Amino acid sequence: MQSWVPSAQAPETDFPIQNLPFAVFRPAGGEARCGVGIGDRILDVGACAELFDGPAAQAVLACRASRLNALMALGPAAASALRAGLSQRLSAAHTADRDRLGAALYAINRVELVMPVQVGGFTDFFASIHHATNAGRLFRPDMPLLPNYKHVPVAYNGRANSVRVSGAPVQRPHGQLKGPQDAAPRFAPAQRLDYEVELGIYVGAPSTQARPIAVGDAWDHVFGVTLLNDWSARDIQAWEYQPLGPFLAKSFATTVSPWVVTAEALAPFRTAVAPRAEDDPAPLPYLHDAVDQRHGGVRIALDAHLRSARMAAQGLPALRLSRSNADLLYWSIAQMLAHHTSNGSWLDTGDLLGSGTVSGADLDALGSLLEITAGGARALTLPGGEQRLFLADGDELTLTGRCEARGHVAIGFGACRGTLLPAAV
Ligand code: MN
Repeated sequence: MQSWVPSAQAPETDFPIQNLPFAVFRPAGGEARCGVGIGDRILDVGACAELFDGPAAQAVLACRASRLNALMALGPAAASALRAGLSQRLSAAHTADRDRLGAALYAINRVELVMPVQVGGFTDFFASIHHATNAGRLFRPDMPLLPNYKHVPVAYNGRANSVRVSGAPVQRPHGQLKGPQDAAPRFAPAQRLDYEVELGIYVGAPSTQARPIAVGDAWDHVFGVTLLNDWSARDIQAWEYQPLGPFLAKSFATTVSPWVVTAEALAPFRTAVAPRAEDDPAPLPYLHDAVDQRHGGVRIALDAHLRSARMAAQGLPALRLSRSNADLLYWSIAQMLAHHTSNGSWLDTGDLLGSGTVSGADLDALGSLLEITAGGARALTLPGGEQRLFLADGDELTLTGRCEARGHVAIGFGACRGTLLPAAV
């Protein structure tokens, strides 16, 4: 299917008509409202209400808001009806309504993309066994994976108000630092500032208290997926994490892409969950679903790029740090939702779940500097000659994601970008 919006056919576009991701944007001098990406344009959905009826019309009205939450809360049927209606009206075969829709299209590079969702809760998982092994090896060479890893999807409760949209400033945090050789901790700007390549999963339809989500029903609660950078201060983390896990090392900033790719748009790129090793334990019954094992993975190539301030000044292109893939996750998205609610707690519309750092088995698929530099032991040389163990002030870190599959038009996630500002004085 093609669109009458010409840029939606560009081979490199992230937003062909097969994607139609949601975002929230503010046109020059206007209020924030919900939109849908198509090529290099964003459609002001709420401005086209008279073109829709039935469940789609309800969804359109929910888009007249400065966050996606009202739309997300309507559940999968409403979002699906809206998607179908938009897909039909933006298709090349549809000649009516073009003036009406065209008047509601804005050039993406002329609007401000703002935080798309009011995030109520933020949980960060640890679902990549490659990342867990690589990070664990730095601390425990003999036993990189802790004994619980293959049984329980490990996570921590993050801080929802750390989440900000791509382009928003990220400032180097202060914290308690104590190296292995230091007699006592000091309070100073973090020196081992890192990023983490992750997926973010937005909850749409809420679940019910004391009614755990079954693995097989979990995608009904997934509104969509985004890119997420879990900025991490490794030196703060190393000193504070025992025995309760990450706290201030990760609560200062979390960056997400402005775009939310819907569960439906991802459907052609669903795949089997990465196979467990022969001798791995089977998941407990509440975490196991045969259909999910066959179709619960998502093939999303994830890239991280770094450009230092000096590289930018010299006009050098960003350096690709890694390319990994979300199809390598040990725990599926559905298993994360099922586990999250297995104790009787529930998920609300607008909750955000991070996948944890997505790393692969190969050296060019490591989703954090902690892994790339082996814990700050092996320097990375940038184009232009600078070296990095961890991020320097002025470094710009960009995540991108793209789904490709034979017989399907490729879709993408836009950019998740942040530049590290110096610590406050
Ligand atoms: Mn993380």
